[in-house]
Amino acid sequence: MAANENKEYSHKFDECPTCDGDLQYQNEADAECLNCGEVFYHEIRANRHLLWDYDELGWMRGVVSRA
Ligand SMILES: [Zn+2]
Repeated sequence: MAANENKEYSHKFDECPTCDGDLQYQNEADAECLNCGEVFYHEIRANRHLLWDYDELGWMRGVVSRA
């Protein structure tokens, strides 16, 4: 049970939704794709994990992946 909770809490998206490259995390929330250089924002909201995409101006564009 405890291990399961821990896994849930530390869930991370590790594949880029755009190119399937590896995501590298600068911190808990900010991830950058090592392959295409796109940056994403990882948000935990009510135990759902959301991965946001940015547009060219740095605005969050939309959720590209959820878990
Ligand atoms: Zn990528």
